[in-house]
Amino acid sequence: MSAIIIDGEAVATRIREQVTKDAADMLSTDGFAPGLATVLMGDNPASQQYVRMKRNRCKKVGIESFGHELPADASQAEVEELVGRLGADPRVHGILVQLPLPDHIDEEAVLNTIPLYKDVDGFHPVNIGRLTMKGRKPLFVPCTPAGVIRLLDEAGAVLEGAEAVVLGRSNIVGMPAALLLVHRNATVTVCHSRTRDLPGVCRRADILVAAVGRPMMVKSDWVKPGAFVIDVGSNRIEDPTAKRGYRWVGDVDFESVKDVAGALTPSPGGVGPMTIAGLLENTMRAARMAVERGDRPA
Ligand code: NAP
Repeated sequence: MSAIIIDGEAVATRIREQVTKDAADMLSTDGFAPGLATVLMGDNPASQQYVRMKRNRCKKVGIESFGHELPADASQAEVEELVGRLGADPRVHGILVQLPLPDHIDEEAVLNTIPLYKDVDGFHPVNIGRLTMKGRKPLFVPCTPAGVIRLLDEAGAVLEGAEAVVLGRSNIVGMPAALLLVHRNATVTVCHSRTRDLPGVCRRADILVAAVGRPMMVKSDWVKPGAFVIDVGSNRIEDPTAKRGYRWVGDVDFESVKDVAGALTPSPGGVGPMTIAGLLENTMRAARMAVERGDRPA
């Protein structure tokens, strides 16, 4: 058996094309473009790279991007003051605070200062709280886990009643992915570093989501034949045969698992592109909500 390979880049391209069209329509109809503000604190190279990529993508689809940088030793009050100012700026429809923030900053308090309707990253405590409750709907859902669900839908997975296993319980991926699966009526098991018999638990899964940050940890004998496997992992490993001396791999051993799974995302090229595409889509939606509120730039 050879798995269907779920092409995240193709799905993300379609999302970006739609946002490009919608942003152009908004500019001609409403006279302004959607706007996303990014807040980057400190000089973590990975965070700098993520913010750069997000801003570049904004430019390409016609979303105005407002980049704000703060030094690593900025105070809690300074970060909150900046986010508060962006919250009041009508040109800014979405605010993205790049996480993680330095240790001396109370992350939850910062996220709390983002107005709910500008929380395009979906990490405001109220949006996360609503995600945990039956019958409640967050205004925005975190982009990576939302991308996981979108790819499962694209691949034709039936979530209702399915046995789903999520490997990883982080705030940004594992836990919200598990909650989204519960909302879709899957029966969900969340695994973590203290889980016993990880391979055995994973083998029960009709849907397996791997978000552990361990290169190629999920082997073919962890996977139920025909399962849908979504690999969120993105890990850099040494590879002397590669031009740069390293390459990127997921949390799933793609080569062996593709012979067992029914459908599988590659990494890179699976969930990764969906994250920024989701952010663009959320920003577009936030801008539409601003139009509905009559909240326009001067
Ligand atoms: P994280 O915060 O480090 O969380 C990892 C989770 O995996 C934790 O819950 C941890 O358990 C669990 N874990 C770690 N080692 C384990 C092991 N040996 N056995 C069982 N469980 C284990 O990571 P994250 O931020 O969720 O990211 C996970 C992966 O996704 C990374 O490769 C990251 O680069 C990637 N990622 C990709 C995207 C994207 O594609 N757009 C976005 C975000 C993250 P404990 O809770 O017990 O510590």
